[in-house]
Amino acid sequence: MGQRILITGGAGFIGSHTCLVLLEAGHELVVVDNFDNSSPEALRRVEELSERSALTVVEGDIRQPLVLDQAFRSRGAIDGVIHFAGLKAVGESVADPLRYWDVNLNGSRVLAAAMEQHGCRTLVFSSTSTVYGEPEQFPLREDMTTAPVHPYAQTKLAVEQMLEALCRSSSWRVACLRYFNPVGAHPSGQIGEDPLGVPNNLFPFITQVAAGRRDRLQVFGDDYPTNDGTGIRDYIHVMDLAEAHAVTLDHLLQQPVSSCLTLNIGTGTGLSVLDVVKGFETATGLTIPFDVVERRPGDVPRLQACPEQAKTVLGWTARRSLQEMCRDGWAWQQANPMGYRQPA
Ligand code: NAD
Ligand code: UDP
Repeated sequence: MGQRILITGGAGFIGSHTCLVLLEAGHELVVVDNFDNSSPEALRRVEELSERSALTVVEGDIRQPLVLDQAFRSRGAIDGVIHFAGLKAVGESVADPLRYWDVNLNGSRVLAAAMEQHGCRTLVFSSTSTVYGEPEQFPLREDMTTAPVHPYAQTKLAVEQMLEALCRSSSWRVACLRYFNPVGAHPSGQIGEDPLGVPNNLFPFITQVAAGRRDRLQVFGDDYPTNDGTGIRDYIHVMDLAEAHAVTLDHLLQQPVSSCLTLNIGTGTGLSVLDVVKGFETATGLTIPFDVVERRPGDVPRLQACPEQAKTVLGWTARRSLQEMCRDGWAWQQANPMGYRQPA
């Protein structure tokens, strides 16, 4: 049966894909987003793709209790919350840590208080693989040491800890999902990642080079202790990640008592920067010119998930290949050269 789900940050990259999966599964949604890093157009397209009209948008900031109150009252009792809203740029978090603690931690605290007030204690939280810091053993299991090295990851770990405390104090059902590197787009090419300005992340940079919007890719260092010297990450198709949220929420809603899960959401496969470049070239038939430059400060050599726990607990595994990540990300870039800022 369809549930009523509140989604914070639902207009963003991961949120929009998750909204589509949830609408297609028959749920009703209330999205709270201040469009700080997204566009209402994403949600319009999500509804269009779903061929359903079951999404209410509340524009506003999660740090404002009145905004959340409005969201909780807008469609009737909320069964569960998926909390994507937050800031995610590592460099920016170093330059402006107070903003990160305010939006990420305080925003989550205000949200949890509103949930208490409205009698909803089921929550899926967007955490990150960067809570592991600079690990030396792979693949990463959830019980391994966390040692975040920048304010972004520190705020995410602090929220995990706040939520664990809530689960100990009363009957909350919480899942903290530690995402690895989400890439790609919905196969329709209608929704995707829409970074403002010069992309920080590898994947949107590659698609913008392919589209001629940027001249060349800069590969940040080829002297890491990896197979080809470039950094290794665990890239996951955003549709696999979106589906993981739907499965997690179903799982939580079936739990009779308080439970607090922490799960890695990745594929388990580590790919170097050059593997991704080659994969993109094979998937699209294009050439990506690149230069190797200095390491980017703060980058770690390798992050790679052990995804076994998510498989055991949720019965979920990532299914989509690097080829699909590249094909779908490229389709989105081609259909939307300027993202949501121009009509497709
Ligand atoms: P995104 O920036 O595309 O989406 C975040 C959404 O939250 C945006 O729509 C933004 O407008 C909204 N938002 C930000 N601050 C808000 C506020 N104060 N009130 C209301 N809305 C607000 O980011 P994303 O890539 O979709 O990431 C979603 C979540 O997943 C974030 O919490 C991020 O930290 C986490 N995460 C992302 C990645 C990644 O690589 N994309 C990896 C690990 C974790
Ligand atoms: N990277 C790169 N050039 C870029 C952007 C990223 O070589 O323009 C590398 C980066 O050093 C890292 C990998 O690509 O090894 C993934 O970086 P991204 O920023 O996408 O993700 P994160 O660092 O958050 O894992």
